Amino acid sequence: MFWHSQVKSARKTISEVVSVRKFKTESQRVLDLMINSIYTHKEIFLRELLSNASDAIDKLYYKSLKENLGFSKEDFGIRIEVDENARTIKISDNGIGMTEKELDENLGVIARSGSLDFKKAVEDKEEINIIGQFGVGFYSSFMVSDRVEVLSRAYGSDEAYLWESSGAAGYDIKKAEKDSHGTEITMYLKKDTEDENYSEFLQEYRIRQLVKKYSDYIRYPIKMEVERTRPAEGDDKKTEKYKELETLNSLTPIWRKRKADITAEEYNEFYKNTFYDYQDPLKATHIAAEGSLEYKALLYIPARAPYDYYSKNYEKGLRLYSDGILIMEKCADLLPDYFGFVKGLVDSELSLNISRETVQHDRRLKLIASNIEKKIRAELADMLENDRGNYEKFFKEFGLQIKYGLYENWGANKENLKDLVIFHSVNKEKMVTFKEYVADMKEGQKYIYYAVGKSADAIKVMPQAEKVKEAGYDILCLTDEVDEFAIKVLGEYDKKEFRSVSAGDLGLDNAQKSEASDKDKEILKFIKESLGDKIKEARLSSHLKTHPVCLTAEGELSIGMEKVFNNLPGAKGISAEKILEINASHPVYAKIASLFDSDKDAVKDYAQILYSQALLIEGLPLENPTEYSLLVCRRLAD
Ligand code: ADP
Repeated sequence: MFWHSQVKSARKTISEVVSVRKFKTESQRVLDLMINSIYTHKEIFLRELLSNASDAIDKLYYKSLKENLGFSKEDFGIRIEVDENARTIKISDNGIGMTEKELDENLGVIARSGSLDFKKAVEDKEEINIIGQFGVGFYSSFMVSDRVEVLSRAYGSDEAYLWESSGAAGYDIKKAEKDSHGTEITMYLKKDTEDENYSEFLQEYRIRQLVKKYSDYIRYPIKMEVERTRPAEGDDKKTEKYKELETLNSLTPIWRKRKADITAEEYNEFYKNTFYDYQDPLKATHIAAEGSLEYKALLYIPARAPYDYYSKNYEKGLRLYSDGILIMEKCADLLPDYFGFVKGLVDSELSLNISRETVQHDRRLKLIASNIEKKIRAELADMLENDRGNYEKFFKEFGLQIKYGLYENWGANKENLKDLVIFHSVNKEKMVTFKEYVADMKEGQKYIYYAVGKSADAIKVMPQAEKVKEAGYDILCLTDEVDEFAIKVLGEYDKKEFRSVSAGDLGLDNAQKSEASDKDKEILKFIKESLGDKIKEARLSSHLKTHPVCLTAEGELSIGMEKVFNNLPGAKGISAEKILEINASHPVYAKIASLFDSDKDAVKDYAQILYSQALLIEGLPLENPTEYSLLVCRRLAD
């Protein structure tokens, strides 16, 4: 009752307020999105508000444990109250509450820089279920409400404030009354339309269903008054209705249940609701470690990389609980960078005072982190072995991360990761591991061959690969920038060295080296001189069979690596030691040889054209495309 009268007075005052506070522009945009949302899963507003309520209680409970305020877990709870006539849903918690300033800052501004990203992500993916990632969950209440009121009293303060907003126009905060600390959020539901039925959120069964679906794991009781029937007093042939406060959630967090009691679907639902994904994960792993190092963990391998995964905005980490209390949202030290895509949580008895800084020095946490790393590795290896289809899906999303992991820190983790990478095989037309490649090596084959290119299709037709293919040797296709760097760091696999098909020396025993005659030597020297520093040498090719020309490289730096370096900002024009290889059995070489004695200028042009073509094959830029075009046309007109 008290609450109703207050709402009325609040309503009156909003029209009286002269200066309504404006939402910050960013927030305004997100709010507009929510209000006009055509998103079909509007129901998630309840999950967002319940999880905010639970967080607010966590904050107070945590504070109490640290400062001995004397609360016990049983003191806390969340209430849902529905008023069908007034069309309101009220969610109250007795958590930490908000001061006037906090109401203003937390609900009037989206403090995180995430709001624009959010808007973009929603526009790109038409998916609002990622709301929580952006710290804009509260606003989802506007998907179903015309107007929202937040009455809050911060713990330790005797002043309460009421925040209210009807959306776009702005919001208002004013002094109010509230008996004790915590927050009450009242939503005034929108009117039903032809397409949308908002009234369903006033139904007991619907709320019960939503709490079960999204918020069952919340560790504080979520209570609601429900209607029950019982035999009427005095006349047990009749029944009578009565109301009772019921706890809707099961309270035990899923990771504390026995594995046998949890279905795959429950694991997946928990994942989707907790980590804001709309797809089932590829794999869920539940650890219940006992013995000297007791902890529980839930680990998930997502099916898709988050939109910002490969940007520096992405923060890796697992949720960290101490005996069921959340103490850190993202504990980065629990995951190595190369498994940064893993989502999940760890629950163990740890000091509550653990902070980001001290985490690294905690011996128990270090051990847990090392166990988790091993477990993830084993799970991935298992998937690779027994569920190749899913592993390939995984690798499409996160393979790049694994390859970076291989390369980083001078290969410090290569032993852990080398069996998790897969590359497309030219012979097999599918992804293979190094192990599989080596097992299928031909007799006499000394090296693991690879080629660097834009795509497997481009690699298949690379002139440089002709001789290796002729020998029947398989070639791994390296199509990501990091690939060749990772392979170089790895150096060898099972005592077999890697060799690029673009390396000056292919290491093929049976390749007959074209012996250059004295005349050839003269021609090659002339070609080299006419091209100057652009190449280190011109050679009769040991790579080519049918193609006329290609580039190979000698030394540590390959042409692929040159490209990567020169694409970096502030590139310094690093250059590989390029060898221009010409196929002595191609008619163009015969033509050059015939022109050599009579027309040196023509040979110069040929050298220039062949070199430019070799650049084009590599996807390297021509220094002067116009000149090249003129040169070719002049020769064509001859
Ligand atoms: P997020 O919860 O992701 O930070 P929200 O938009 O849902 O984003 O909420 C913004 C902030 O408002 C929260 O971070 C929290 O500080 C505050 N807040 C929301 N609901 C409550 C509540 N019930 N009690 C106390 N503070 C709350």
